[in-house]
Amino acid sequence: MTLTNADITELTALRRLLHQHPEVSGQEQGTAGRITDALLGHSPDRLLTGLGGHGVAAVYQGQDYGPTILFRCELDALPITEQGDLPHRSTVPGTGHLCGHDGHMTVLLALARLLSRQRPARGRVVLLFQPAEETGAGAEAVLRNPDFETISPDYAFALHNMPGLPLGHVGLIPGPVNCASRGMAVTLTGKSAHASEPENGRSPMHTLAHLMPALTALSHGTPQDTDFTLATVTHVQMGAPAFGIAPGDATLYVTLRTLTDGGMQALCDAATTLVMDTATAQGLTTEISYHDIFAHCENHPEATLILRRALDALHVPHNARGLPMRASEDFGRFGQRAKAAMLFLGAGTAHAALHNPDYDFPDDLIPIGARIFHQVARDMLG
Ligand SMILES: [Zn+2]
Ligand SMILES: [Zn+2]
Repeated sequence: MTLTNADITELTALRRLLHQHPEVSGQEQGTAGRITDALLGHSPDRLLTGLGGHGVAAVYQGQDYGPTILFRCELDALPITEQGDLPHRSTVPGTGHLCGHDGHMTVLLALARLLSRQRPARGRVVLLFQPAEETGAGAEAVLRNPDFETISPDYAFALHNMPGLPLGHVGLIPGPVNCASRGMAVTLTGKSAHASEPENGRSPMHTLAHLMPALTALSHGTPQDTDFTLATVTHVQMGAPAFGIAPGDATLYVTLRTLTDGGMQALCDAATTLVMDTATAQGLTTEISYHDIFAHCENHPEATLILRRALDALHVPHNARGLPMRASEDFGRFGQRAKAAMLFLGAGTAHAALHNPDYDFPDDLIPIGARIFHQVARDMLG
C-alpha cells in the first residue's frame, strides 16, 4: 500500500500550512492542535495529548501480541527570522521552521494515513510528535510523563533531513550518530569602578580575553575520532554599554561537544578548571551552570539493521557519509529506554543548511520518508 497522488497533494499542503505557523520549543500549542485534528481524521486506536508539554501520540494497534514500535518527529520551530519569498513562508515574526520539523511531522501524518487503512497485524505502532527538541528538553519531558509508560516502546525510530546528502539518499550507521553537547554559562563577578579609576575595581576583561581562546583550544579532532571535543564560545557580555564605568561583571557562554556522553565529563572538568584557575588568579568570583543538555545519540545495532533492511527492500541508497554528525539531537534519550535508531534523509547536495534563514523542507521527502517507515512497520508487525 502506498500514498496516492491525492494523499501527497494534501500532505504537501499540510506541510506548508505547518511551515506558515511555526512555534518555538515548549510553545507548540497551535501545532499540536493541528496535528491532533489531522490524526483524528485517521482514526487512531488511541490518541494521547499533553505529553511532556504539547506532545501528541497516536497509537495503531494490531490484533495479535507483538512489539511496540515508536516513530518520533518534532513539533518545534526556531527563533530565527525566515528569509526568502516562498509563498508559504512563516507568518510569525522572528520564528521559522528552519530545521524541517514541519516535514518530519508530515512524514508521520502520511504514516497515519497508511496505518488507518491497514492496521499492523500484531503489536502496536506509536506515532510520537515530540515537543521542544531544539532545546534538548522535550524527549526527557515526554519520557518522564506517566502516560508514556502505557506506550513504552520496544523499538524507537526517527529521521532527520540532511542537507548536503543527495536528495532521497540515506545516511545510516550503528553506534554514535549525534554528539553529546551542553551549554556552559559562566558568570564572573569582580567590582565595578569609575572609568577614570579602573585600578580601584576588579574588571573581568583580562579573564575574558584569556578564556575565550583558551576554551576554544580545548577543541580537537573530528566526530570520526572517539575523543572528539569541540568548545564554541557563543556569547559574551561585560559590564554595561556605558563610558563612565569600568566593568565589574561578565557573562560568557560556551557550548561543549563530545562524541559520547562518556567524554563529556572530562571536557566539563577541563573547562571548569580553566575558568576557575583564571578567574581566581584575577580576584573574581565565578558561577557555572549548564543548559540545553543533550545526551549523545546512539544507534542500536539491531534497530540499525532493521532500518537497513527496509532501505534495501526499497532500493534506497544508503551509506555512512556525514556521520557521526557534530550536531546534537535529543532522540538519544529514547535509546536509553528502547532499541533505537535514527536515519538521515538527504535533502539535496545544494540545499540550504539546517537553521539557515533560507532553509525549507523538500516536499519530495514526504513520500520517501513515509515509505521507509511504513516498510519498517510492515517488516516488524506485518
Ligand atoms: Zn534543529
Ligand atoms: Zn531538527
